Amino acid sequence: MAFQDRELACRDCGGGFVFTAGEQEFYQSKGLTNDPVRCPSCRATRKMMRPEDREETPHYGVAVSWGGRTPRQLHVAHCFQCGQATEVPFVPRGDRPVYCSNCYNDVRSKQEAQAAAEAEAMASRLSHRAEGPALEGSAEERERVALPDL
Ligand SMILES: [Zn+2]
Ligand SMILES: [Zn+2]
Repeated sequence: MAFQDRELACRDCGGGFVFTAGEQEFYQSKGLTNDPVRCPSCRATRKMMRPEDREETPHYGVAVSWGGRTPRQLHVAHCFQCGQATEVPFVPRGDRPVYCSNCYNDVRSKQEAQAAAEAEAMASRLSHRAEGPALEGSAEERERVALPDL
């Protein structure tokens, strides 16, 4: 798919700026479907003021770190759900239940679904407050949300 340079108006300073073909390709590779709303200098200013607006901030850190578990020493524990002895990669403590691999898969899929929903809700709250480039939703929705600021 070929991209072409496009002229956009900055929401903050009202100045025109070019959304280059290369930037459009970059946005698409990041899965960002919205156009940038600020010129590069206003974006740079916001990045200095609001580090959480940086578009490289991971919004799904919880899920990502779960996927990156590394093997560690195993400890014997009893499954919270079925009572069977099992080995876990952390020191079992009373403050969190331990599961055998069968029950764990069952529980984990539920927990991951819940964590993903929470991360999504948080990302959605953050992006609505920050109105940063990671904002989800249509351009129409974005403009409607932004109207009170104008
Ligand atoms: Zn600007
Ligand atoms: Zn079990």
